[in-house]
Amino acid sequence: MNYRYRIYPDTTQQQRLIEWMEICRSAYNYGLREIKDWCDSRKCLIDRCSIEKEYIIPTDAFFPGEVQQLNNLPKAKKQFPRLSEVPSQVLQQTIKQLHRSWEYFQSRGFGFPRFKKFGQFKSLLFPQFKENPVTDLHIKLPKIGAIPINLHRPIPNGFVVKQVRILRKSDRWYASVNIQCNVNIPDPMPKGHPVGVDIGLEKFLATSDGVLVKPPKFFRSLQSKLKLLQRRLSRKQRKSKNYEKQRIKVARLHHQIDNTRKDFHFKQAHALCDTGDMVFMEDLDYRISAKGMLGKHMLDAGFGQFRTIVKYVCWKRGKFFGEVDARGTSQECPECGNEVKKDLSVRVHNCSYCGYTTDRDVAAGQNIRNRGIKLISTVGQTGMETACADDLPGIGKTQSRQVSKSRLGKTRKPKK
Ligand SMILES: [Zn+2]
Repeated sequence: MNYRYRIYPDTTQQQRLIEWMEICRSAYNYGLREIKDWCDSRKCLIDRCSIEKEYIIPTDAFFPGEVQQLNNLPKAKKQFPRLSEVPSQVLQQTIKQLHRSWEYFQSRGFGFPRFKKFGQFKSLLFPQFKENPVTDLHIKLPKIGAIPINLHRPIPNGFVVKQVRILRKSDRWYASVNIQCNVNIPDPMPKGHPVGVDIGLEKFLATSDGVLVKPPKFFRSLQSKLKLLQRRLSRKQRKSKNYEKQRIKVARLHHQIDNTRKDFHFKQAHALCDTGDMVFMEDLDYRISAKGMLGKHMLDAGFGQFRTIVKYVCWKRGKFFGEVDARGTSQECPECGNEVKKDLSVRVHNCSYCGYTTDRDVAAGQNIRNRGIKLISTVGQTGMETACADDLPGIGKTQSRQVSKSRLGKTRKPKK
């Protein structure tokens, strides 16, 4: 689990951390340059000349892999003494980070890692600790000493601090503490009351039980505030003092929007877990991109994050989480399965085959739930019978839901 705490480094500590980030950034960019050069030099056949550019890298030179670049660090330190200012493990993590993104690019086929510009490197990862660095008042980091920390919630007993990531958000500093505990938790089994969730722009979410949540108002008001601040920023002279002041204001507001959104997402996720034992959501990509066209910047970052948060909350509370193929959920009747065509302006689902009428988004949620139930029953998990018999579309709340819920609460140990 990751717990995030706010930390309060003093000015010299801040300066040092920023400097470290800069050094790590240059190491990152250097490593990326090596990779890029190598790739460019392999673009044309060995016995030809490239038309555009020529890279003189011997043909038998190996790809600058992770291990090689890591091994080159000590040599590089002799050449650039600045590198040794940073704790060596932190520097190694930077190279590892580069290769993670490289591998991710390889597996996905797009998204070549980019050079990081000034200020784009915003976190440092301390991967190992000999002893617990966190006390009630301070967090102890190598080469920098104790930084005051606001331990707003204690680290639970039996947990060991594995890694610490120092983050810089606008002008604030945070420590994201990764804690681990040696307990095996079985994956939650699908059972109990199923809930299908449809997310959208007009309604933030709609569940198969008919719960509709509107997108909260503060988004809109914060967005307009952001617009105002950004407009002011654009009128300032670049790199002037006033520009800098205004820039920090904008960054803070972005940070505030992030935080409020996250808070809202967590509350919604917990509310979902309160109402059901299994949560089903649509899978990523397909519909999100379509919806994104409608109101792009409002929530686009939010969809993916919300799914991740729901997943996490489900895992923490021992509820089953499943993703289903979302294609055509809004065009199908959850009662009889017939296709009911409707465009975006039609807000009510009205089936011409069986006469079932409900809100459009609720219908989508119910479809997602139905597909989720089908999904787990085809996988052949135990407990599928109860899941199916529990609540079929259109039937009101059943008793079994309450029963299964209370039993769940007693048997399950809280989280990892
Ligand atoms: Zn129907």
